[in-house]
Amino acid sequence: MEPLITANYHTHSKYCRHASGEAEDYANAAVEAGLEVLGFSDHTPYPFPDGYYSGFRMFPREMKDYIADVRRCREKFGDKLEIKLGYEVEYYPRHFGALIKTLAESGYDYLILGQHFTKNEYDGEYSGEESSSTEKLKTYVDQVSEAMETGLFSCLCHPELIHFSGPDEIYEEHMTRLVEVAVKTDTPLEINLRGLKFGAQYPDERFLDIAAPLGAKFIIGVDAHDPDDLIPAEEHEKALELAGKHGLCLLERMELKKPAV
Ligand SMILES: [Zn+2]
Ligand SMILES: [Zn+2]
Repeated sequence: MEPLITANYHTHSKYCRHASGEAEDYANAAVEAGLEVLGFSDHTPYPFPDGYYSGFRMFPREMKDYIADVRRCREKFGDKLEIKLGYEVEYYPRHFGALIKTLAESGYDYLILGQHFTKNEYDGEYSGEESSSTEKLKTYVDQVSEAMETGLFSCLCHPELIHFSGPDEIYEEHMTRLVEVAVKTDTPLEINLRGLKFGAQYPDERFLDIAAPLGAKFIIGVDAHDPDDLIPAEEHEKALELAGKHGLCLLERMELKKPAV
């Protein structure tokens, strides 16, 4: 099969409870799809206080199994596939420090930023809920910007998860700020294939038009929640079409940022 992309860093597995398949199933599909690099980035565990649990991520106690699965895959697939261990992480200011400490202690290859909620999740709102609130858009952009400034994130997933239905000028003003920080911190922006597959609000062509002239870099992310998502399909072609249409600087590989130790 002729691959349309050769690396995917956005892959989930059974641990997040809304994706299906073992790590090994994804690795097999990746080989079939002709990928050279497969990065696992399941939804991070989060050390929330008071027993709060968000329902779409692994429990902290499951981390060791997740890590063991990815390592086992790495051994099994050897030089057929370069396998990386990562997490998709929200930047929740109140708990991010503790999270990073835990992740760093257990070891990882990279983190990708996916800001599914504003504030600290339990006191914020789902980013993808349609809203005309400028305040919510601003909070999202502030938080994502602060996250990119940490230098810990290798890319920003579905930047347009924020579903702003207010005036275009306000969208442009705030998303321009986001892109400027992405450029400054050399954080690639994702073209999310899951959004294309399901007709979500992302990718958003308004956003691509803002980002391209500012010199942003882009990376395609499958956001696989099923091993079959890795197999080239219509959405892979659509992503390449979008990149061509908007003149995006599209990376084939992204730099995996690690914390300075
Ligand atoms: Zn997910
Ligand atoms: Zn994801």
